[in-house]
Amino acid sequence: MEPDFTSHPDDTRLEMYSMGKLGSDEAAAVEEHLLLCADCQVRLEEAETFIRTFRRVAPAIETPRPRSAGWRLGAIAAALVLASGLAWWGAQRGPEPPPVAVTLTALRGDPAGVAAGRHLRLVLDLTGLPAEHAYAVEIVSREGRAIWSGTLAAGRTEIETGKPLAAGRYFVRVASPRGDPLREFALRAE
Ligand SMILES: [Zn+2]
Repeated sequence: MEPDFTSHPDDTRLEMYSMGKLGSDEAAAVEEHLLLCADCQVRLEEAETFIRTFRRVAPAIETPRPRSAGWRLGAIAAALVLASGLAWWGAQRGPEPPPVAVTLTALRGDPAGVAAGRHLRLVLDLTGLPAEHAYAVEIVSREGRAIWSGTLAAGRTEIETGKPLAAGRYFVRVASPRGDPLREFALRAE
């Protein structure tokens, strides 16, 4: 039988596993599922508790096989190693640096400078633009190639770009939802 990571073994199967009544292939499949499924780990505990209780009343029943206790310790150890590994990995990666705010004004002569390779929060001067329910914001390269686009809700003037810019010159274009160009800002990443 193939290991099955998606379907939970039913109660009967768990009890049979606990009592060592499954064939080795079936037992291995249940164990592989148990490694990944916290719900079934709890169910196994309950099944074993039930069997122990039942055994006191009816001593003839077979005892849970010792290897299931060993398996639990192994699974807990594996989970701890995994958790500490993930914590270490998270610490190495560190938090994502916050986006750099860049204020773009329509009257500015020079392009606004930003740090290349950082996420940006564009602060846009939309003074005097016709009222729209939203604005389309686009970053294009100096050659006019689309780099990033987003939508700015009405009443907002700030938008975060999900894409860090490589060093170079860009234009930030603001358009109506119908695509009419409304304003353009120059941007320099370095
Ligand atoms: Zn399960």
